[in-house]
Amino acid sequence: MNKRIFLSAPHMGGNELKYIEKVFESNYIAPLGEYVNKFEESIRSYTGVDNALAVTSGTAAIHLALRILGVGKNDDVLASTFTFIGSVNAIIYQGANPVFIDSDKESWNMSPKLLNKYLLECEKKPKALIVTHLYGMSADIEKIADICKLHGVYLIEDAAESLGATFNGNHTGTFGDFGIYSFNGNKILTTSGGGMLVSSNENWIKKAMFYSTQAKESFIHYEHEEYGYNYRMSNVLAAIGVGQMEVVEDRVSKKREIFEWYKESLSDVKEIEFMPELDNSRGNRWLTAMTFEITDYNKIMKTLEDINVESRPLWKPMHMQPLFKNAKKYVDGTSENLYNHGLCVASSTTMTKDDVKMICDKIKENLD
Ligand SMILES: *Cc1c(COP(=O)(O)O)cnc(C)c1O
Repeated sequence: MNKRIFLSAPHMGGNELKYIEKVFESNYIAPLGEYVNKFEESIRSYTGVDNALAVTSGTAAIHLALRILGVGKNDDVLASTFTFIGSVNAIIYQGANPVFIDSDKESWNMSPKLLNKYLLECEKKPKALIVTHLYGMSADIEKIADICKLHGVYLIEDAAESLGATFNGNHTGTFGDFGIYSFNGNKILTTSGGGMLVSSNENWIKKAMFYSTQAKESFIHYEHEEYGYNYRMSNVLAAIGVGQMEVVEDRVSKKREIFEWYKESLSDVKEIEFMPELDNSRGNRWLTAMTFEITDYNKIMKTLEDINVESRPLWKPMHMQPLFKNAKKYVDGTSENLYNHGLCVASSTTMTKDDVKMICDKIKENLD
């Protein structure tokens, strides 16, 4: 049996262990230290954002953003329905109500048209919007940002999956009031677990730092006027992040190459469609995602499992989840249709062209 091929396995660049050793030598094992600053600096210089805060997860970063924007009990928060739960859990933490907006066919991400229509029609103005750049592909973000400005809705970009993706040359995560990245185990870069909150607003990031470290007022005796969280990233994990950031462009190129291999190997199959890439954007192709005409993709998944290759259905939209059966939604069937027809296929950056060919042969055997 061949070695298991994962959807997106961790892929160290080579220097991570060396940096961890430096952390151990300095004994700054926790909580803070120079690698946290270095990791934040590497995100700032790579994405061009002015302020960054390293935290324990992407979910924590979204939570901090909502708290700082004043999202609270009974507020409405718009969100992509076609996303992973980590994108929206923090809405519940804040006692707010999610309102799910559907995707469009052009991007598979949030439809600016539906968003605009909802905002024109809705009786209760939402406080904020969380838009996901799914599978590393940029949403129609300039339009979405303009709509948010027009309607006075704060914008949080969930770029958990899309580090390195750009729209009109600017990095996803830098268009909104806040952006977040994730360094969970299977993201394009990983610190085993971690996240980053970014914003052009320095005061907000300072406030986020305050909340992420138990909201301690500046007294030696630990005075508290507000409640906070224990969300700050450790120096050990940040050392991994610094090593990972050295290879971010290599990882993006490799992910994009893997996508091209899939596209080439399946070019003779008409009934397969790949997740689109909007004009003027560059996706990081975190996971190659595709739809089939058939809806019974379980047999494709099973055949791939037989050769020890991981695959997974496209995210089940949030408005279809039992957890959100009573949530408001503004949908037209697009994401439900994608979910019914689509799979993510193995996209680990250690894969070879032959791996992709082998997977594509299996897919082709199961298309009817
Ligand atoms: C992974 C992910 C998150 C959550 O990030 P964590 O670091 O795992 O908390 C949020 N949104 C999306 C779209 C994700 O893929």
